[in-house]
Amino acid sequence: MPKPLKKQRVPMPEQDPKERIHNFNEVALGYTWELALEEASRCLQCPVNHAPCIKGCPVDVNIPGFIKKIREKDIKGALEIIHETNALPCITGRVCPQEQQCEMHCVMGKVGDKINIGKLERFVADEAKKMGIYPEVYIAPNNGKKVAIIGSGPAGLTAAADLVKMGYDVTVFEALHDYGGVLIYGIPEFRLPKEIARYEVEYLKSLGVKFIKNVVVGKTLTIYDILNDYDAVFLGTGAGTPNFLNIPGVNLKGIYSANEFLTRINLMKAFKFPEYDTPIKRGKKLAVIGGGNVAMDAARSALRIGYEEVYIIYRRTKEYMTARKEEIKHAEEEGVKFMFLVSPVEFVGNEEGNVKAVVLIMNELGEPDESGRRRPKPVPGTEFGLEVDAVVFAIGQRPNKVLYQEVPELKVTKWGTLIVDEKYRTTMKGVFAGGDAVRGEATVVLAMGDGKRGARAIDEYLKGEPWPEKIEPKNF
Ligand code: FAD
Ligand code: SF4
Ligand code: SF4
Repeated sequence: MPKPLKKQRVPMPEQDPKERIHNFNEVALGYTWELALEEASRCLQCPVNHAPCIKGCPVDVNIPGFIKKIREKDIKGALEIIHETNALPCITGRVCPQEQQCEMHCVMGKVGDKINIGKLERFVADEAKKMGIYPEVYIAPNNGKKVAIIGSGPAGLTAAADLVKMGYDVTVFEALHDYGGVLIYGIPEFRLPKEIARYEVEYLKSLGVKFIKNVVVGKTLTIYDILNDYDAVFLGTGAGTPNFLNIPGVNLKGIYSANEFLTRINLMKAFKFPEYDTPIKRGKKLAVIGGGNVAMDAARSALRIGYEEVYIIYRRTKEYMTARKEEIKHAEEEGVKFMFLVSPVEFVGNEEGNVKAVVLIMNELGEPDESGRRRPKPVPGTEFGLEVDAVVFAIGQRPNKVLYQEVPELKVTKWGTLIVDEKYRTTMKGVFAGGDAVRGEATVVLAMGDGKRGARAIDEYLKGEPWPEKIEPKNF
């Protein structure tokens, strides 16, 4: 008799919302062996060539393959299968928007809950880390060629990992004083503990990748200096320049970009007050403008540093929010208040120039815009005020121009993203790029996919593939 299908997924234990808003420890606690085996047992083991879940994964992880190894209690085998295409499973298992990627396509969804693929991936990576298991990798002998990677986010780290394995001498240059990009300065500790990104960096060092911090390429060094010393360059410089709304009062004190707010908390350790006295506006009421993951991270971090009332101000309705469903649920459980169909029109300050209120206007939804989402239209005469002690803008980011503003050879799109072709070649010979620098704000796993394909293209170039006369821009 075949065993009956287990229709419901095995939930991952989480910290209680009442407790977790007072700490920065991870919210999702991870599967135990028992829970992981139970969840793995639900997978139908679709044949690898036809498994729909693999088609949804931007880096083609062999999902039925690694789940089979979990069932066999073979963590090393599971890790090696994942590592064939994904060098950072500790990270993707935590932050990938799985519900729109691998899990969206899982056939179990036709009869019950989809398999919890991300949580199982995290389990494998965490268990391997606990047991001190690294995948066995082949490092080709040094081929005498040097590659520089600019930026240590997921795109740069993935490119570095693949190139060092191919025998290149790889150096990563990073502007900040710590490595990992958004993984370290943006995504908060309670979703992605910093020691995980650090662990991955240490692993790359053990493979021979060199890291140099506090180097802003475009200021400390130019790209021309780097090209003098290296045979090829990969730009993984991300999209770190925040967008603001050009409305009255936007320059008042206490109004932050999400980047600055989260960097002060994550990288400059404002969350360890009073041990670290990083300046950050403290108070009772804070409003976050935006409806994506960055907005959820800012709102939930604000609660944890002591704000009592935290509002998400979003111009459309909940169904249009771009944040992961899990993040919205967690924010709701923690007491973040959501205000839908409202936009800020003005900030009001006190005599010291600190923000004290935001004037909001109600919206109605009109025709769909180019993104397919219905466009919000302000309703005249519906303005009202909300008292606040601080405001955080989380309405998108674009690439920082510092690296290429004095490099006319590097062409950018109207959104400021670097132009690359199918092989991640920029318009400057020997220079490749990927991740948010070419896509605009995207995801960790897409940046990793770019790093992987960029590394392959660099290898082909350094083995003699001619540089094209004209770069045909790739559409993202
Ligand atoms: P980044 O991670 O931005 O790294 C770029 C690095 O380049 C940085 O370290 C920067 O300091 C460095 N750099 C920039 N310019 C220079 C220079 N001139 N010289 C030297 N170094 C330079 N994605 C998800 O998939 N899931 C999530 O849950 C999620 N949550 C997010 C939450 C927040 C708060 C933010 C901001 C983003 C989130 N994202 C999430 C998006 C994701 O983090 C990014 O898409 C991803 O990190 C992009 O990777 P990257 O390597 O291209 O760039
Ligand atoms: Fe799913 Fe992301 Fe892992 Fe791919 S990398 S299997 S999309 S969690
Ligand atoms: Fe397992 Fe779902 Fe993938 Fe099939 S589609 S192999 S059931 S995870």
